[in-house]
Amino acid sequence: MKTIRDFDLKGKKVIIRVDFNVPRKKNKILDDTRIKKAKDTILYATKKKAKVILLSHLGRVKEEEDLKKNDLKVVVSTLQKILGKKVLFVSKTRGEEVEEKIASLKEGDILLLQNTRYEDLDGKKESRCDAELSKYWASLGDLFINDAFGTMHRAHASTVGISRYLESGIGFLVEKELTALSSLKCENHPYIIMLGGAKVEDKISLIENLLPKCDKMLIGGGMAFTFLQAEGFDVGNSLVDRASLDYCSKVISKYPDKLVLPVDIICSKEFTDNDFYQEKDINEISFDEMGLDIGSKTVSLFENYLKDASIIFWNGPMGVYEFENYKKGTNQLLTYLVEEKKKTILGGGDIVAAATALKVVDKLYHVSTGGGATLEYLEGKEFPFLKEQEEKDEKK
Ligand code: AMP
Repeated sequence: MKTIRDFDLKGKKVIIRVDFNVPRKKNKILDDTRIKKAKDTILYATKKKAKVILLSHLGRVKEEEDLKKNDLKVVVSTLQKILGKKVLFVSKTRGEEVEEKIASLKEGDILLLQNTRYEDLDGKKESRCDAELSKYWASLGDLFINDAFGTMHRAHASTVGISRYLESGIGFLVEKELTALSSLKCENHPYIIMLGGAKVEDKISLIENLLPKCDKMLIGGGMAFTFLQAEGFDVGNSLVDRASLDYCSKVISKYPDKLVLPVDIICSKEFTDNDFYQEKDINEISFDEMGLDIGSKTVSLFENYLKDASIIFWNGPMGVYEFENYKKGTNQLLTYLVEEKKKTILGGGDIVAAATALKVVDKLYHVSTGGGATLEYLEGKEFPFLKEQEEKDEKK
């Protein structure tokens, strides 16, 4: 796979697909992490004297009123601050104004086009990877760089589409994510998976793909109770994903030595953050109690496995981390991994949010920001952009 380093960028119109799909409230950006992550690739291109054309989606555009809500202009001032450079903006995705602005670009200039999903209003052209739109966008540049890791699992006109008509490669963010995630595929043992979160059902593909590869799978969070019930424990009012009970029984009998379940929990009679909670062994939960976090014996048990790990992948919190009282298990294990300097990769929205709140994101080996893309990768699905690039390379 070619990276941006492999091309001579001088004087070239380089289209960079970034992911500026930032969370917002009333036109205020709540978290600019995604913009910061795009910085290295953009500045590299300007330093190499490219004429940079940025494409990104923002939110979803289904109706006319979504246009105003998802105007990409909202990111311009933050982007300028992060890059320390002027950013030109054109509020169109195609047409004369776009073409004129591009024609007037000088080496090192940066131009951001309007939200690619504006093209979804008329027949979902962006999301359905419309060929005419893909060809048009490709005609605006000399080279295409995909640095939008968060959308790698999708085949849209601004990602896969353009690359069908233009020489293409990946940017630094995508390269970094792929390098970190591919270290989970290698023969790095002991390889420990930590899975938490709410429902087993949502994680079946992940479990299926990862269980054969790992040495131990430590299960916490709400999903542990479905496994515990399948093992015959009475879990009271805890979250149980009934549709997945049979599945859990099968997994337990197929991999009896790989699964590690909680031995104690923090439980309460209510799903609220009040102080009426107790730590109990797993066989002591009464009918009207629910488990909301892993207990201290479980934290020690998990640490014991983590101590010898060569590599760790963690998805999903160990408890209801949104509540002050039930974030301890997750935070203690995060702290342990940081203090012991264990090679840890976090992936998926909630565990990344927990690590961000604990301010340990920069202290871990890799925190994957891809959300859905990261999980699909770990489920063993191929990224369409990479697949097509590899096929192109093979034909050469
Ligand atoms: P997921 O998106 O599947 O990773 O699930 C994350 C959600 O799981 C978070 O909102 C947590 O509050 C929730 N969760 C974690 N542990 C529990 C638990 N013991 N009972 C209920 N929900 C939980």
